[in-house]
Amino acid sequence: MSDFTSGKVWLVGAGPGDPELLTRKAERLLRQASVVFYDALVGPGVLDLAPQARLVHVGKRSGRHSKDQGTIDQLIVAAALQGEKVVRLKGGDPSVFGRATEELDACRAAGISVAICPGVTAASAAAASLGASLTLRGLARRLTLVTAHAKAGEDLDLDWQALADPQATLAVYMGKAAAAEVSAKLIAAGLAADTPVAMVENASLPEERIFRTRLDLLALAARTALGDGPALLLIGQAMGAAVDPVMADASAQVERIG
Ligand code: SAH
Repeated sequence: MSDFTSGKVWLVGAGPGDPELLTRKAERLLRQASVVFYDALVGPGVLDLAPQARLVHVGKRSGRHSKDQGTIDQLIVAAALQGEKVVRLKGGDPSVFGRATEELDACRAAGISVAICPGVTAASAAAASLGASLTLRGLARRLTLVTAHAKAGEDLDLDWQALADPQATLAVYMGKAAAAEVSAKLIAAGLAADTPVAMVENASLPEERIFRTRLDLLALAARTALGDGPALLLIGQAMGAAVDPVMADASAQVERIG
């Protein structure tokens, strides 16, 4: 394929972790790359697909040491200007809370050809793990993706009234630290306290864990049940629709704690 010429940048979605959830295009681009700049959330099995490439960790996990966005932009641009085939590998889908715009702009400003290869976003992977649908006729007519990542010491700047929609599924990215605020603000805005919530940590990875709780118990559940891995919160009636025995166990655990 001739869409990966020297000096080109591909923003590639690595999916949620399981290498089998990569697109075939992502796999091909990884095999063709000369350098891969990858995030903290990209699993090792994915990087194994680029043994020929120089692998550069530019990981970002909140609160940990990381390169800032401007530095990442510069690294990508510099590599492309040197004639490398650059893969910028991002967890999930590059266009979902992935700072893709900054990187696209930086490349375009430098006259570099840049394109996106989509990936499976965490919300899709979490729903698959739950065996549930994000949308549900009559119950969940809308899917909202939101990030609950706030600058240190600041409240989340979200339209809670709009988010407290009983007919929606709310997928909260980066929501672990803000779980208490998410729960309190949604309830204050009118969403029922017993709205089902699923928390999926490390979706699609061997360490995956699933917990079910309800909106008013979310803060406690997130604090006590979730570990260090990336976790997605799914809130809405559709999350109450499918329960398998494993999940029933996990939910009993969370309820006991509560
Ligand atoms: N571009 C990514 C999201 C980046 S924001 C995507 O499309 O999925 C990072 C957040 O994504 C994490 O804090 C977490 O909320 C979520 N996330 C990413 N990978 C995940 C996984 N394997 N399991 C659960 N949540 C995940």
